[in-house]
Amino acid sequence: MTTQLKLKRQRKKRLEQGHPWVYASEIDTVSGGEPAPGDVVEIVNHQGAFLAKGYANPKSQIYARVLTYRADESIDTAWAVRRLQAALAYRERLLPDTRFCRLVYGEADFLPGLIIDRYGDVLVAQILSYGMERLKPVLRSAIEEVFRPLGVYLRNDVSVRRLEGLEEHTGLWWGEVPRLAQIEEHGLTFLADLYEGQKTGYFYDQRDNRAAIAPFVPNAEVLDCFCHTGGFAVHAAHYGAKRVTGVDISGSALEVARRNAEMNGLADKIDFQEANAFDFLRDADRDGRLFDVVMLDPPAFAKSKRALEGAIRGYKEINLRGVRMVKDGGYLVTASCSFHMLPDLFQATVLDAATDAHKILRLVHFSGAAKDHPEIAGVEEGHYLKYAIYEVQSRK
Ligand code: SAH
Repeated sequence: MTTQLKLKRQRKKRLEQGHPWVYASEIDTVSGGEPAPGDVVEIVNHQGAFLAKGYANPKSQIYARVLTYRADESIDTAWAVRRLQAALAYRERLLPDTRFCRLVYGEADFLPGLIIDRYGDVLVAQILSYGMERLKPVLRSAIEEVFRPLGVYLRNDVSVRRLEGLEEHTGLWWGEVPRLAQIEEHGLTFLADLYEGQKTGYFYDQRDNRAAIAPFVPNAEVLDCFCHTGGFAVHAAHYGAKRVTGVDISGSALEVARRNAEMNGLADKIDFQEANAFDFLRDADRDGRLFDVVMLDPPAFAKSKRALEGAIRGYKEINLRGVRMVKDGGYLVTASCSFHMLPDLFQATVLDAATDAHKILRLVHFSGAAKDHPEIAGVEEGHYLKYAIYEVQSRK
């Protein structure tokens, strides 16, 4: 008999609104025996009406995640093939080039806990939940059938796996995957370090936002803080910046960044420096350095709700220093990828920083992640990336 999770009568109707998670606190009764981690279970409402099928993990705070809203759908290779085909079709409709993009974005592609990024002929995957880990054989067959990659590399070095009772590890899943893959973006070429780079090697989510700087950088002196492998810096030079300074704490990311600048014939315009951005910004601000455009794309400062206070201070500090270094009439390009920093709070924090710096901001552009990172309407955590371009005026 299939295990059934009966949800409480008094609960927010999150599942019905598209949120694919069931927390232990929302469950009234579990019938048919306690599920083993990864078992497929049925989720029913307090009256026993079918809501969804999902995989369970009683060891995780997220007790179950939805795999299908159809009672007659089995969770098998044919199901996975349909999901992957739908994910690919969505991207083929919306992106100019699906050779280099995120093919599967977990919950938002109805494949909770699975991320797949495509780097030409090879894929990099992240498996973030116990249920997906158990579905690996099914996923492998479906991936081979739909995407036909030369190889798949696993970047399961993600701390959320521990919350699911899984180990962190990296390595080849199957086939062959080179350490460095070459991708194209807006006519530029970039190397991505698939084995050791941040996340899966490249941040496709900022693709459109990198193009958005084009009108602001011609002849500009640009600072790119948290530059990683130079995505924004190389775009800035390509769009006509006079001089770009890229700062990152990771020497290995900067090695790739320098090669990326060279590959695009822009090395003479970009100076990459290895430094803690907090120190760099403090020193540069103290020395009275000024730029036409300051870009800030830090890692997620708030990894949990509890860490939010500290994160707000971090965002305020870098934006305060950053905005002070923008020449009058120049631009602050600023981003946050913390789930818990909601868009209003992010804008309020930047405004707070500007107020302290005696600057007036004019919001020129506000956006989120590129379309290969879709959002389910009822999922607040889905709006993780905030990206803004402000024109900066002095108030004194
Ligand atoms: N803008 C990049 C992505 C940035 S990811 C792009 O478009 O590809 C965040 C980067 O911040 C990572 O490369 C990481 O190495 C770097 N980082 C993290 N903490 C840092 C710190 N204190 N100072 C400088 N860089 C830091």
